[in-house]
Amino acid sequence: MIDKHSRRINYLRISVTDLCNLRCVYCMPPHGTKLLDREEILSFEEILTIVKHGVSLRVNKIRLTGGEPLVRKGITSLIKHIADIDGIDDVAVTTNGVFVREFAMALKTSGLSRLNISLDTLRDDRFRDITRGGRLKDVLDGIEKILEVGFTGTKVNVVVMRGKNDDEIHDFFRYILERDIELRFIELMASGWKNMVEEDRFMPISEIMQKVEEIGELIPVKQRICGGPATIYKIKGALGSIGFISAVSKPFCNTCNRLRLTSDGRLRSCLLSGGEVDVKDILRSNLSKAELAEKLTNAFVKVTTMKPTIHSGKSNAVMHQIGG
Ligand code: SAM
Ligand code: SF4
Repeated sequence: MIDKHSRRINYLRISVTDLCNLRCVYCMPPHGTKLLDREEILSFEEILTIVKHGVSLRVNKIRLTGGEPLVRKGITSLIKHIADIDGIDDVAVTTNGVFVREFAMALKTSGLSRLNISLDTLRDDRFRDITRGGRLKDVLDGIEKILEVGFTGTKVNVVVMRGKNDDEIHDFFRYILERDIELRFIELMASGWKNMVEEDRFMPISEIMQKVEEIGELIPVKQRICGGPATIYKIKGALGSIGFISAVSKPFCNTCNRLRLTSDGRLRSCLLSGGEVDVKDILRSNLSKAELAEKLTNAFVKVTTMKPTIHSGKSNAVMHQIGG
């Protein structure tokens, strides 16, 4: 699908659950949020119907997110079914990493292509504080395990927050010296819980880059067009690389190739703005095969045309439902 700004849409990010085992300060309030009724959540069969339909419209990349995707029962079987679809070239997962050690081998054999792990600090006490109760060791062990079972292209996503973890940029750099990982610094975004995210915690990528440049010269890595939202660099002597994602200060909307599917079945044009179509309604309307195909095509096309030229930067998006 090509949208009105000539962006080729071939990537679908799917939130498979609104449940999460953590309560990160920028994503959820301390007590969690009102959960969706379980019958509102798309079944695996429904998700697969949407994916197959996407493939018929030239979608070839899928990312599973959440909530925490690894808390959804049977997740590796869903991954295997998606990876087995003709036309799918890449199935990835974004996870908080807590259960990755336990799942590493099953994820590998399911046909998963890659993992992005969210990790905002390398200090125990801060990890507990930012995630409201998580254990850093679980995530660090998980990362070692996925490297051990042979995953490549692993990314570690760090949301940088002024006064919380911005003094760890050098420590993160040391972490990738001997690990083949793409470390990605991400700007803090306002979300549905924006009153929990104090504005003065925001740190623009330009400032984060300056801090990295104190360590060494950033050597730009040649990237494919639509290769992803990060600008990637190598630093001499490091096995890993460093990426910067400036979703707020310098949005990458002009190269955005993605649509999103929420855990309760809304096909969305953008994380922050644009519009959405309720495909769960379509899936649950007892339509004939031909009618279903026609309505789903219309939904994909409609959402594609709703993609904004550039997002508004702020929204009431509920990250753990849409999948950040
Ligand atoms: N639970 C998984 C995880 O944490 O990786 C997947 C879902 S989480 C919503 C996906 C990503 O959104 C994480 O990398 C998280 O750091 C990011 N995220 C959530 N809220 C954010 C915010 N307000 N600003 C920037 N990134 C955010
Ligand atoms: Fe859970 Fe991920 Fe949100 Fe943290 S960022 S609360 S791990 S969904």
